[in-house]
Amino acid sequence: MKLIFEKSMPGRRGVQTTRSDVGETINIKKEFLRDKPAEITELSELDVVRHFTQLSRLNFGVDTSFYPLGSCTMKYNPKVAERIASYPGFAHLHPLLPQLRGGGMLTQGALAVLYEMDLLLREITGMAGFTMQPLAGAHGELTGIMIMAAYHRDKGNKKTTVLIPDSAHGTNPASAAIAGYKVATVASTDKGVMDVNALKTVLNDEVAGLMLTCPNTLGLFDPNIKEICDLIHSVDGLAYYDGANLNAITGKARPGDFGFDIVHINLHKTFATPHGGGGPGAGPVGVMGKLVDYLPVSIVVKRDDGTYALEYDRPKSIGYIAPFYGNFAVILRAYVYILMLGREGLLRVAENAVLNANYIRVKLRECFESAVDTPCMHECVFSPSKKMLETDVHAIDVAKALIDRGFHPPTVYFPTTVKEAIMIEPTETESKETLDAFIEAMKDIADTAQSEPEKLKNAPLSTPVCRPDETAAAKNLDLAYLNPARLLREE
Ligand SMILES: *Cc1c(COP(=O)(O)O)cnc(C)c1O
Repeated sequence: MKLIFEKSMPGRRGVQTTRSDVGETINIKKEFLRDKPAEITELSELDVVRHFTQLSRLNFGVDTSFYPLGSCTMKYNPKVAERIASYPGFAHLHPLLPQLRGGGMLTQGALAVLYEMDLLLREITGMAGFTMQPLAGAHGELTGIMIMAAYHRDKGNKKTTVLIPDSAHGTNPASAAIAGYKVATVASTDKGVMDVNALKTVLNDEVAGLMLTCPNTLGLFDPNIKEICDLIHSVDGLAYYDGANLNAITGKARPGDFGFDIVHINLHKTFATPHGGGGPGAGPVGVMGKLVDYLPVSIVVKRDDGTYALEYDRPKSIGYIAPFYGNFAVILRAYVYILMLGREGLLRVAENAVLNANYIRVKLRECFESAVDTPCMHECVFSPSKKMLETDVHAIDVAKALIDRGFHPPTVYFPTTVKEAIMIEPTETESKETLDAFIEAMKDIADTAQSEPEKLKNAPLSTPVCRPDETAAAKNLDLAYLNPARLLREE
């Protein structure tokens, strides 16, 4: 109910205000009243429009240029998903509305979206059930590992350790540690995938499970996943699939079919919500049948009469891991995206993600050093060539020089298993023209490293601040030159 203050009359003890919708009178004590009007900047509409337009132009995003940030899937997300997520019937729903009586007719649509999304994600991953609650990929990992712990507790298993390959995403060991497990690292082979022999040496009855990022941070699909899952199961461990990079395999292959027990997906990467900037995400977690009882509460169920309801009576559940039902608008965007693309479209997502990465891999391997010279999935990793390193040009210089050429830098110095790593994820939404322009820029940087290496050492030259001292920039953050107030017309 909106409070509308219609008129205020200064009184002896304060102010009497009439709430127009109920005609009720509220007394505000004198000590709470201002003695002069609030100092609110008064601006014309034009000033405000210019201010925010200028701010938006300071931003670099996928909508302005190519953003090949490895492991982050900075792809273009169709605006229709934004549009539908902003429909008032969805956007104005309050999470405390009752499910049926009164507000029921208002919430049934949202519950249907959550319910059907569960079914769609089951189909895409081969899992038996999902929770939509986790608010990010890393949050999904934590949820998954808590489910793993609940399973072992229930069975009376004494498990202490989670195994994680050295090519995993950095959040994996952090999630396992926060859930209370020791982390043991499994080395990779020189081909960049998990060393199965190394796995056998660390495998014992204390192992609660394994977390596998697949495709891994080198963009490689692990060819031994079936054997790896069997090994983990042989000690009653659970196999966890970090599916943040699902755009590489969606529609093509399903973690549930490989033998994984738990999976998380980053809806904000693969399905129509941009990643990064600390914005809202969604990391739904799917599990195989024996783990469904441990999923967080609540779960959306469909009743016999066709209506939807939230079910809380789940005694084995790990409980709440987020308020309400997850980042609903992110889930809704993913729902729109999946229905819009359909099976054929999702297959093309995976095909184009892999094709684009391999196009770059093959075109750039003559002037950069490939981390592994085998076909990749959705991303490829290079290092500067020996010739570049001889002129003292490093991964950081390549990244900064790309800014002068109009591109967002790739991820650099990650994965840590590759020296001077430059990790490029072009994503499926970029055209051949854009990829070619990027490849030309990278080749130009390789040439400049030979002819005028000092130019690269000082890049970027085209931005308001050139090469910052990154430690100082983080420690003594000074945004004065970006001060929005300066962009406003002076009085
Ligand atoms: C991005 C990513 C994550 C973490 O996801 P957040 O939403 O940033 O927490 C985990 N694993 C992999 C492989 C990723 O690429």
